Amino acid sequence: MQSGIAEALQSLTRRELADLFAEWGEPEYRTGQVLDWLWKKRVASIDAMSNLPAPLRERLAKQFPRAALQHAETSGAADTTRKFLLRLHDGRYVESVLIPASPALYGEKSDRHTLCVSSQVGCAYGCKFCASGLDGLTRNLDAGEIAGQVVLAEEVSGRKVNNLVFMGMGEPLANLPNLLAAIEIITSPWGLHIGARHLTISTSGLVPQIEELADHPRQIRLAISLHGATDEVRGRIMPVNRKWPLEKLFAALRYWNTRKKQKLTFEYILIAGVNDDLQQARLLARKAAALDAKVNLIPYNTVEGLDWSRPDEAHCREFRDILRKARVPTTLRLEKGHDINAACGQLRLKREATEAGK
Ligand code: SF4
Repeated sequence: MQSGIAEALQSLTRRELADLFAEWGEPEYRTGQVLDWLWKKRVASIDAMSNLPAPLRERLAKQFPRAALQHAETSGAADTTRKFLLRLHDGRYVESVLIPASPALYGEKSDRHTLCVSSQVGCAYGCKFCASGLDGLTRNLDAGEIAGQVVLAEEVSGRKVNNLVFMGMGEPLANLPNLLAAIEIITSPWGLHIGARHLTISTSGLVPQIEELADHPRQIRLAISLHGATDEVRGRIMPVNRKWPLEKLFAALRYWNTRKKQKLTFEYILIAGVNDDLQQARLLARKAAALDAKVNLIPYNTVEGLDWSRPDEAHCREFRDILRKARVPTTLRLEKGHDINAACGQLRLKREATEAGK
């Protein structure tokens, strides 16, 4: 267990639950029974775990009095990108976004659904394009609150989530112990059993944690929020670049490449007049090619309270074509998510402001 506060039962890994039951003098097979109720049968309450003796159910309910998450609101229509607002036990909110596969990339019949998962309430990193950082960090999510987003998204949408990106609210690598526990729940056969290669962690570039995660045995994918190919340009957008400038970041990424099989991805939000100069494209192409990385270009979405704008489509294509000419696999997401999949954190900020009577 990661903290002294009362957690949800869903936050426990198999090891933690087994240790607890050993301490309580319960037989070993109870661990498997409880995990089965939680992650396979997905019951709403401990009381519904009908093959556990009543005294054990009572003891569990006393020790773990709260649910991990509750669904508060969904925006977006079925078969398009949907955003779920989720209420935490302390009245805070986080968001998850479910994104169906693009028919152009995966065919009309694809049932691939990607869930964009949050890892913290708010964020301390203050990237200038992002609504999540506007109020700073409130707290880390625990493992059950992270993994529980998958269960709720599946319940509400009726779809199976088969791909995950840790790209929602928060900097996942700033919450590494809980993130790793959540990954264990998500990838294990006793948990949600989604293959590690279907998980992508997106980071603003926390160098020590990238190195630590590189040594983790699971073949997780890594995406870097780059948004600038020089320290000068990146530093204007991402304050984290002052602590870990590009030279240090790229040394960690070279180490990553020695430990993992999957290609790295660079996320690059194109912001008019800030980082969309074609010289940045040429430098980005060189850096990506040196690491054999892919690049996702994302034209900027307007955030209330921020005054940057989106470059026109012709310019975005020109930027992309420079990368493609350098043989860097590059995607340019012109269509998807322009409506509700705007910068993370906006729905949650509005809801918290309303409830606070602002
Ligand atoms: S982009 Fe990610 S790391 Fe940066 S402020 Fe937003 S949530 Fe935090």
